[in-house]
Amino acid sequence: MSDIGLAAGQGRSNCQTLFGMAKIPTDNDIRQMLDGASPAAFDGLFDQAIAVAGTLEPFRCPGGRRLCALDGTEHFCSRNIHCERCLTRKRSDGGTEYYHSFLGATLVAPGHTQVMPLPPEVIVPQDAYSDANQPVIPTEASH
Ligand SMILES: [Zn+2]
Repeated sequence: MSDIGLAAGQGRSNCQTLFGMAKIPTDNDIRQMLDGASPAAFDGLFDQAIAVAGTLEPFRCPGGRRLCALDGTEHFCSRNIHCERCLTRKRSDGGTEYYHSFLGATLVAPGHTQVMPLPPEVIVPQDAYSDANQPVIPTEASH
């Protein structure tokens, strides 16, 4: 349950009790605050979490390997607003949709209730793999 749901159901949320926040921002408020931030601005947080000794040990599976769940998702889609980094697709009505998407990776382990998200990889338009040294899914920083 979100902090907004907790606040509505019990009168107080973690934001209020732990952080002393008088008014809890809505999902839209948070989106507006983060809209101008580059996704790469958050990579350091992922790196810091992984760098702590022992953080990844709970995610070691039998046989010593780690299990990584992958999922792609979109975080923007429009027929009117677009930029040079937009992916495109033709729709059945002949229109073009412009969208941004990324691949999310998360370390998981059987029997472990916590997961470790890894930095997302932004998916960008590309015509062909002409350079074998380029990553299959370039990061935003490689532009
Ligand atoms: Zn775009």
